[in-house]
Parts: sequence; structure tokens; C-alpha cells
Amino acid sequence: MKQIQMVDLKGQYEGIKDQVNESLQEVLESTAFINGPQVHSFQKELEEYLGVKNVIPCANGTDALQIAMMGLGLQPGDEVITADFTFAATVEVIALLQLTPVLVDVDPETFNIDPEKIREAITPKTRAIVPVHLFGQSADMDAIMEIAREHDLYVIEDNAQAIGANYHTREGKTVKAGAIGDVAATSFFPSKNLGCYGDGGAIFTNNDELAHIIRGIVNHGMYERYHHDVVGVNSRLDSFQAAVLRAKLPKLDIYNERRKEAAIKYSEAFANHTDIVTPVRRGDCDTHVYHQYTLKIGNGKRDALAKHLQEKNIPFGIYYPIPLHLQKAYADERYEEKNFSITNQLVKEVISLPMHTELDDDQIEYISKTIIEFLNQQ
Ligand SMILES: *Cc1c(COP(=O)(O)O)cnc(C)c1O
Repeated sequence: MKQIQMVDLKGQYEGIKDQVNESLQEVLESTAFINGPQVHSFQKELEEYLGVKNVIPCANGTDALQIAMMGLGLQPGDEVITADFTFAATVEVIALLQLTPVLVDVDPETFNIDPEKIREAITPKTRAIVPVHLFGQSADMDAIMEIAREHDLYVIEDNAQAIGANYHTREGKTVKAGAIGDVAATSFFPSKNLGCYGDGGAIFTNNDELAHIIRGIVNHGMYERYHHDVVGVNSRLDSFQAAVLRAKLPKLDIYNERRKEAAIKYSEAFANHTDIVTPVRRGDCDTHVYHQYTLKIGNGKRDALAKHLQEKNIPFGIYYPIPLHLQKAYADERYEEKNFSITNQLVKEVISLPMHTELDDDQIEYISKTIIEFLNQQ
């Protein structure tokens, strides 16, 4: 059996070596290291893939979130509602812009923000909602867009973990996750479903006016050379990263398919086990791209299982071990523990298993067997 890895970037590279090397070589020969033709081509190709009018590449996913919020003109003191159960980047940029983060509890099955909790958290100061499509599945965007329309709020989708996932609207339309709200942010961090070989990110929006504003913000607030109309940032996707992404984008659907197949095999192996809850998918099979394959381990056995996997050299992740409302940087006396019963429970139960495009049947069988045998002895 091949050595099991959480994410197998080397194995994936072997399959696309020629395309990637050729694409990188082109950048070297052109010496257009910043804003070269590869960046422009990737932007167009991603717009087409996602079915969105505007993609604005930038330096990383955290910047993408920050720039989206700057583009919408959110002002210090504005309240922004987001999930208590996500990677810190989401709340970090809200705080950095001196907006007021309002963390709310999530759905215990999908791990995504609970629309009812959003409703309860709305005040006259609320300006925006940031749903995070956690672990590869879109949040309940129909409900979220309805709340946003009722209360005149912006919706900024954190799509760092769900690129390529579909969402089927109540009206029966199929759209890509990230193409629904006012604006979305994604990350091309190497381990993401569409990852480059360094840092990268992008903002997408169907709003041309907002896209124009954002194109200036990413480039020092310039709309005309050396005329700085707004305070901007320097956030660029470099040409080497765009070259890698261009080689990988045509494979994204196949990659996501492989993740899905691995998820199905895991879930079959764990079916009906009393200590294990397998990931819940709310829509058709194209609605989850399994950025993470995350189990809930019941009966207080998660930590013992984690220790056992470590001893067996099986990689795993605890995403996330501490809810954001209990992190030192984001704790606030406004928060009441009784309002976070789900996240407080999830942090004790979740465990994410190796999930990538190169997992084979032997590995999946070995991992699932090891887990089941251990839990049965407890
Ligand atoms: C990875 C990630 C980010 C940040 O992306 P970077 O490119 O690492 O800055 C933001 N939000 C979520 C949910 C993520 O998973």
C-alpha cells in the first residue's frame, strides 16, 4: 500500500507534470511574472467555468474576503454575521476592517451556518452575511438570500472550500457555489480543491460595477495609472500560480469526482456504526465536493480515536478544535454560551480523514477498518 497522506499533491502532480511544466516554462520564457497573459487567460477560463461575469484574481483567499468587503463599502461598526464554525480567516478580515463580527451557530448535520440563527442575530446595524460553504457543500443559499433581500443585506460567500460544487436553487436552477451572493471569495491554497503551488485567491461577482471597484482596490486603488481614488491594497495572483491553475482547472471536475468516489466508499464502510455519523449531503450528488471528509464520532470516543490514528500513522485533521467565539482574538461579552450549543458539541466530535484525488481503495479500506476495529474495542 502507498503511504497514506492527508493530501497527496505529489501524486497529483505526476498526472499533470507535462502540462504544468510547459505552462511554467512559458512564464519563464515570457518573463511576464506579474499580470502576464497566463493570469488574464486563467481569469477568463474561471469565469467561464463558474458561469460568473467577473473573476478578479488576487494573492490569497483571506485577501479575497477582505477586498470583497472593502468593495462593498462596509464601514467601521457595521455588523457582519458569519458562522462560529469556520477557519479564522473569515472572521479575521471582518475584525481587521473594524467591522463588528457577529458569530452564530451552525447546522449540526451540514456544519454550515444556520439561517434561523442569522435571522435572530439581525440588528439595525447589520449590513452583511458571510456564509461559508464548509467542507465542500454550499450553505442554504435560498434561505440566506431570502433573509438578505428582506433586510437589505449584502451576501459575501466564502467559497474557499467548495469550488466546483453545484447548488440547485428552489426555482430549479443549477448554479455554482460562489455565483449566488453579491460577491464571493475563494482560495487557491495548495490543499484546496483547486490549488496552486503557493498562495492564490480570487473574488467573483456578477455585478459589473462592483467588479470595477474591486479591480481598482486590488491595485492600490488605481483606476487610472497613478491616480489613487480609494485606499487599496496590493494583492496579485502571480503568473506562475496562474500557469499552474490553468493546467489544473480543466481537471477540476474529474478531481472533485474522485473525491466524491472516495467519500462514497468511506461512507459505505462506516454505514450504521453506532459511534459514527458520516457526512450529510443535502442535495444531489453534485452538491458536495468533499474538501474535507468529516465524521462525527459519538459517545466521547473522538480523542481516543485520534490518538489511535496517530499511533497507526494515519493522518487526520480536527477542523476545527475551538469555536471562533471562544478564540482569544474573537471572544466578546455579547456572546452567550447557550447560543452555541452546536459548535460547542462539534468541536468535541469532528474528525476529518485523508481526502484527496489520489486515494485508492486499499488505503480507504485500511483507514476505515482501523477506525471501526478501534471503536468496536472501546
Ligand atoms: C483556506 C480558507 C480561507 C483562506 O484562504 P487563504 O488562501 O489561505 O488565505 C478562508 N476561508 C476558508 C473557509 C478557508 O478554508
